[in-house]
Amino acid sequence: MKFYNLKENDEQVSFAQAVKQGLGKNQGLFFPEKMPSLDNVDELLALPFVERSIEVLAPFVEGDLSKGELTEIVTNAFNFPAQIQPISESRSILELFHGPTLAFKDFGGRFMAQCLQAFTKQEKITILTATSGDTGAAVAHAFHGIENIRVVIMYPKGKISLLQEKMFTTLGGNIETIAIDGTFDDCQAMVKQAFDDKALAQEIGLNSANSINISRLLAQVCYYFEAVAQLKRQNSQLDNIVFSVPSGNFGNLTAGLFAKAMGLPIKRFIAATNANDTVPRYLATGEWAPKATVPTISNAMDVSNPNNWPRVEHMVKSGIVDDCVSGVSVDEEQTQSTMLQLNKLGYISEPHAAVAFKALGQCEDDEYGVFLGTAHPAKFKEVVESTLGQPIALPKALADCAGEPILSVDMAADFEQVKAYLLKGN
Ligand SMILES: *Cc1c(COP(=O)(O)O)cnc(C)c1O
Repeated sequence: MKFYNLKENDEQVSFAQAVKQGLGKNQGLFFPEKMPSLDNVDELLALPFVERSIEVLAPFVEGDLSKGELTEIVTNAFNFPAQIQPISESRSILELFHGPTLAFKDFGGRFMAQCLQAFTKQEKITILTATSGDTGAAVAHAFHGIENIRVVIMYPKGKISLLQEKMFTTLGGNIETIAIDGTFDDCQAMVKQAFDDKALAQEIGLNSANSINISRLLAQVCYYFEAVAQLKRQNSQLDNIVFSVPSGNFGNLTAGLFAKAMGLPIKRFIAATNANDTVPRYLATGEWAPKATVPTISNAMDVSNPNNWPRVEHMVKSGIVDDCVSGVSVDEEQTQSTMLQLNKLGYISEPHAAVAFKALGQCEDDEYGVFLGTAHPAKFKEVVESTLGQPIALPKALADCAGEPILSVDMAADFEQVKAYLLKGN
């Protein structure tokens, strides 16, 4: 399938090109030229996760990947489950944190890594990314051991938790990590400088693997199908399903809208945010007015200018989906009291999922609410333990890397040094 640039509609690229390029001209996002419409949804829902995901993704990658290649990619990428857990009579959580780095970003990261590997047989690629925690781990694990792809991750030294740091700095091999003496914004600015340096970008084959990449988005469509499949297996009459999506850059919500547009029976979506509420305010007032980003305990959603929003807007405005998105903003106190409420219901939750559960409060009696569990509670050990007043155990993936040595190099927040490093290792 072809993908076109939402800003410069004349720019049309193949799936392979969209994955390699990330963004189009003028920072435009790529979008499928035609949304596939599935006429066999019931049959698809009866299939196992990996088999169904291959069918869901096939129309998007047609022309770039054979069925055999797609099968291999999806089988390698989705080697862990997405799991529905009932919370009460009319609520379930979709747990998306059973992958290697315990966050939903493993789905998109792993699918993207497998696709890039398939599309870059000859040339060398350097993934350069800045992280304040979760993305670095997902990208590092997804690309670890993939030939021809060098991954360089910058992060602010001393400003992420030791456990977070251990999750991506202990791998070695093709994963290189730089501890920058500066802030996350410094790291992000240097990534941008590297992309602006066209000669450098060309020489090392620069790519960012960030959340606007169409491959990450498409991977996430698959677990909405899996959620509905599991729910219908429990109760075939179940109807009026509402998904509440804890949102930062809105990739997750965009993927849900793709699933609905393709024919998955979902009634509507709630865009759940923390105090960084640009989207809920926009949906209420029609005015796009981002404020300065404020730090919260659901820090992966501390985004005030969400980079996937143009895709959501396009889908609603052009009628690809009906007007099915409402917004709810949840403050810190509500987030913590919701974590306590969930604990009383027998479920230990971290702050992001709690925001989404709280937002389901706006559901009608005849609606069934599903909220997305985007990270394992142990990834937010400190705040979970202090809020609930009880210790939580480390899962094996975290416990294993905690004992490994950190392999990072230290560097000043100086682009020339970073550039020299990138060129030298090449
Ligand atoms: C990235 C992230 C989110 C936000 O997802 P978007 O697709 O950017 O909206 C929510 N929760 C967790 C734990 C995350 O890591």
